[in-house]
Amino acid sequence: PRAIAILTSGGDSPGMNPAIRGVVRAALHKGIKVYGVTKGYSGLIIGDMTEMNSASVTNIVQRGGTLLKSDRCLAFKDPAVRHQAAMVLKEKDIDALIVIGGDGSLTGAHLLTQENNINVIGLPGTIDNDIYGTDDTIGFDTAVNTALDAIDKIRDTALSHESLFLVEVMGRNSGFIATHVGIACGAEMVVVPEYETKAETICFQLANNRLLGKGASGIIVVAEGQTPGLTTHLANVLAQHQLEAKVCILGHIQRGGSPSGHDRVLASCLGAAAVDYLCAGYNDVMIGVRDSIITDTPLKQVIEKNKKLDDAFFQLALLLHK
Ligand code: ADP
Repeated sequence: PRAIAILTSGGDSPGMNPAIRGVVRAALHKGIKVYGVTKGYSGLIIGDMTEMNSASVTNIVQRGGTLLKSDRCLAFKDPAVRHQAAMVLKEKDIDALIVIGGDGSLTGAHLLTQENNINVIGLPGTIDNDIYGTDDTIGFDTAVNTALDAIDKIRDTALSHESLFLVEVMGRNSGFIATHVGIACGAEMVVVPEYETKAETICFQLANNRLLGKGASGIIVVAEGQTPGLTTHLANVLAQHQLEAKVCILGHIQRGGSPSGHDRVLASCLGAAAVDYLCAGYNDVMIGVRDSIITDTPLKQVIEKNKKLDDAFFQLALLLHK
């Protein structure tokens, strides 16, 4: 390609900035022009983009969020609007687009290339790690560490007051963040959307802990799941079983903050690889990492297939609390 555009879309994740930097620096190295689109698909459809140079991405590798800003653009679900976006790119002589975002953003990218003659490459940018075709998404590691930092503090209070906390972490419909955080913080229980957890099981586990001499305090990590208010509901159910639990919803702190070293390296590698794959003639794929190797997966598969939480991994999280 002679010129490419790049955008970040959907929920921001820590590591989007080093990914942008990876794309820009790798493209410039190959003599390709790069345009940075402001506010995801919203900016694309109105042609809000500026040419980037090496200095445009100076001093961003350590910053959370996204320099290009992000947005949710419902209009992009309309094929006519996607056609308009393709026209904008063609008018500016841009022949490829790199999209960094989650499942929704990658769906938009896939439809854009299917319906219009524009090459696209996707990069998995979400804290949730719920993207098929990659073991790891940009921002997941940082989000896990941010949640851990908070839970280690909550643990001090839980121990001092011998109290029970239900800590809600993000993850949309998946339990990746919750299971990783649960293992790493030594949670007494992990509740995820993929498996049913009965209130009785939690009560039994906590009673057993007391018998084993572990005290009455505890941290239960709950994945947010689809239904808002799930964690408060769980606290109410536990109250009916004479278990008083405090609810702490970590919320948006998990999306922000300086990306971890792991996420900076992952994002930099994937950003540069996106440019390499474009130059090698790839289109309509997401670049991710599987078994520590950078690899491409057709966007169609990425969108249609669900990444499953590994059963043995989740069972390990439960076993470690016993
Ligand atoms: P994420 O990319 O983090 O999953 P969203 O699901 O909010 O976040 O999607 C981000 C944006 O991607 C949407 O606001 C929209 O512009 C675009 N998008 C999502 N789903 C579709 C779809 N089915 N068709 C076209 N564009 C979509």
